[in-house]
Amino acid sequence: MKKLSVFFTLLLSSFVSADLKQDLEEQLDPLMTKVIAWRHNLHQNPELSNREYKTSKKVAAHLRSLGIKVETKIAYTGVVGLIEGGLPGPTIALRADMDALPVEEKTGLPFASKERATYLGQSVGVMHACGHDAHVAILMGVAEFLAKNKENIEGNVMLIFQPAEEGPPEGENGGAKMMLEEGIFERYNPEVIFGLHVGNGPHGYVGLTPGPAMAAASAYRIKIKGVQAHGSRPWDSIDPIMATSQIIEALNTIVSRRINIINNPAVVSVGIVKAGTRNNIIPEDSEIMGTIRTFDPKLRAQVYDEIRQIAAGVAVGTGAEIDVEFDVGGFYPVTFNNEDLVERLSPTLKEATNNKFYINNSPSTGAEDFSFFSQEIPGMYFWLGVNAPGVMKAPGNHSPYFVVDDGALDEGLKSLIYLVLDYPNK
Ligand SMILES: [Zn+2]
Ligand SMILES: [Zn+2]
Repeated sequence: MKKLSVFFTLLLSSFVSADLKQDLEEQLDPLMTKVIAWRHNLHQNPELSNREYKTSKKVAAHLRSLGIKVETKIAYTGVVGLIEGGLPGPTIALRADMDALPVEEKTGLPFASKERATYLGQSVGVMHACGHDAHVAILMGVAEFLAKNKENIEGNVMLIFQPAEEGPPEGENGGAKMMLEEGIFERYNPEVIFGLHVGNGPHGYVGLTPGPAMAAASAYRIKIKGVQAHGSRPWDSIDPIMATSQIIEALNTIVSRRINIINNPAVVSVGIVKAGTRNNIIPEDSEIMGTIRTFDPKLRAQVYDEIRQIAAGVAVGTGAEIDVEFDVGGFYPVTFNNEDLVERLSPTLKEATNNKFYINNSPSTGAEDFSFFSQEIPGMYFWLGVNAPGVMKAPGNHSPYFVVDDGALDEGLKSLIYLVLDYPNK
């Protein structure tokens, strides 16, 4: 008898979700018109990490207009909304990040950003060069559909609009980590979390990597202190530039010569070198900054050790004082896609996208702070290709030429809604 009632409940819920999928199909065009208008508005008004004031106001106003319970100012500008479904079920979290980048837009789009801001003491252009405008607009559209159909939703849907995915300004806390520190998971108790990222992939295709999907990221900083002297009398100096060049050369041997990367890839890059003010002065100080990407904590510890050893060796060799600092501005863990979820819900993504779905077995060396959420509860994070139809090669995320094709966004919206509808029964 009990088995039979479970059977009927499942049958009933699959009818309800089939109905909702049909409704979505019928309402898709007008809904996408709104999503695209929101995205253009967000794109034209980008805001840097931890400064997403106008963006979060727009999001909160939209959620409130749908009758959704809203909490604001989480981790500075974060917004959380809760849609309470009419049928019993789990709480499912969906996440969109809201911040833009210090990039001067060169797309020439009619709604291109002309915004400027100060970043690291410099006047910079601001652009949604990572496509987070698309993530926000999609989740606003998802919220609209689910809120209007909440009587037929099983469980609750927690909408997370997150600040500072790209990393908070130095000296500030922020992002997913800070939202968690402020207790959002304790308050809403989600069972699972889903998110997506747009990228320069084929139009409307959804890609999913099981297991470790994106790398752990740590910024490092090496400070070198020597003795300043006239450029004509190098023997009076301890030359920090010489030490800097030795360090950079040795850093490039870590991945190629010092650690075993057969099973676990790693990247060590130098992104900043600072030294000197004038051609005939050997300066007192110099600085190197870069990023480390790994998929395995043991290997990461090894990379840190190698960098410390290189710094210590060059310090002995040159007489300079050398300090090494890791996790500058915080550390991002590996973004892990729960294998069980991938197996259970791949058919859902296939259905949502009309088979424009693929499993991508090569993890990305990019990093995502979605990882903080998905290390607390099972999570699944997928890529949405937003190239124009038929285009295979296009500028990628963080490029001033990065363009999101509006026509691909419906596949993202449908994917998130189908995941909410199917998760309780799959
Ligand atoms: Zn980015
Ligand atoms: Zn991004």
